[in-house]
Amino acid sequence: MNLHEYQGKEMLNSFGVRIQRGIVATTPEEAVEAAKKLTKETGTSWYVVKAQVHAGGRGKGGGVKLAKSQDEVKSIANDILGMMLVTPQTSAEGKLVNQVLITEDVYYPGDNEPEEYYMSVLLNRETGRNMIMYSTEGGMDIEKVADETPHLIFNEEIDPALGLLPFQARKIAFNLGLSGGALKEMMKFVSSLYTAYVKSDSSLFEINPVLKTSDDKIMAVDAKVTLDNSALFRHKDYAELRDLREENPIEVEADAAGLSYVDLDGNVGCMVNGAGLAMSTMDLIKQSGGDPANFLDVGGTADAERVEIGFRIILKDPNVKAILINIFGGIVRCDRVAEGIVEAYKNMGDEIKVPIIVRLQGTNAKEAKVLIDESGLPVHSVVEFQEAADKVHEVLA
Ligand code: GDP
Ligand code: MN
Repeated sequence: MNLHEYQGKEMLNSFGVRIQRGIVATTPEEAVEAAKKLTKETGTSWYVVKAQVHAGGRGKGGGVKLAKSQDEVKSIANDILGMMLVTPQTSAEGKLVNQVLITEDVYYPGDNEPEEYYMSVLLNRETGRNMIMYSTEGGMDIEKVADETPHLIFNEEIDPALGLLPFQARKIAFNLGLSGGALKEMMKFVSSLYTAYVKSDSSLFEINPVLKTSDDKIMAVDAKVTLDNSALFRHKDYAELRDLREENPIEVEADAAGLSYVDLDGNVGCMVNGAGLAMSTMDLIKQSGGDPANFLDVGGTADAERVEIGFRIILKDPNVKAILINIFGGIVRCDRVAEGIVEAYKNMGDEIKVPIIVRLQGTNAKEAKVLIDESGLPVHSVVEFQEAADKVHEVLA
């Protein structure tokens, strides 16, 4: 689950990470109130208005703007709220902006120039350890830095038994070119950031930029936080931060029905029980010349109701040209699944306008095939994996 920037920053701050202060607003009037409050608290006279959507690159899309007065805060908030923000990370139509974060301006002039760094915390799946990835090249596309100047990206791996050690925090600050007070600040920043990552059960932090202000303070100016969904039961307060408006509506509906569904770009919808079988079914579709339109695992209980919900969810995708149902009857018997499919089809027959291929294998597979064949429904039933592939190929041709 992803958090908005303002939510991520508040969470980080609760673990002692210094952040650029901000207040979220949903109307231009609230934005002005927020600006007044920020000036009282921080003394700032300039502000930044930042669109709150789950996508990066907002600055490039016109979703992050500097305001040099409270009047400007009002007019910029008015422009950004309600806009469809297009960034390199959104679709072409963009994302609706429901909220803006009004922040203090932290790029104020002083003894030194403000400097931007990049820092993320994530799991290195090869070593099974958390790592801190960081670079002096903050503020810009880290993908570009990785492509063109990979030697400017550093990694620090963390031993899970020891946690982040002080010498590691010092090394990071040193590699970022810091000394004196800024080095000490960075060490504190890194260690509280890592504590936040572990304690919040996050799977990704990306802070771009981490800023060194002109008076040597180190703070998070942006925050991308992804929480581990499997650990959300331990963090009821974070679970409440979920913003369903930011998520794919079909995925939200599937989730509510207890199905694991991931929307994809292809033309063959698939419904499978078990993640492994779902993966190989997607491979099968690819080999037959199709492209999977989704990943859908109906889990162990493929009864009529779940099959129908699955159907309905798959059919919401207008790109679907065929549906492949591939169920292994282990605990759930194939004839029960077949009954479920027939029943679901009868309930929504008119709504199904694409060919359906059903492969049932396992307990009572033969009985299941008979049930489907004798139902009189326009459903192709097959038993072997290869037959399923051939049928998909045939109906797409
Ligand atoms: P992103 O474009 O979605 O990654 O949004 P960011 O939160 O990273 O903001 C984009 C850019 O806005 C930053 O890289 C900064 O250059 C700029 N920015 C953010 N905060 C301030 C600020 O307080 N003052 C000024 N002058 N610029 C800021
Ligand atoms: Mn950023």
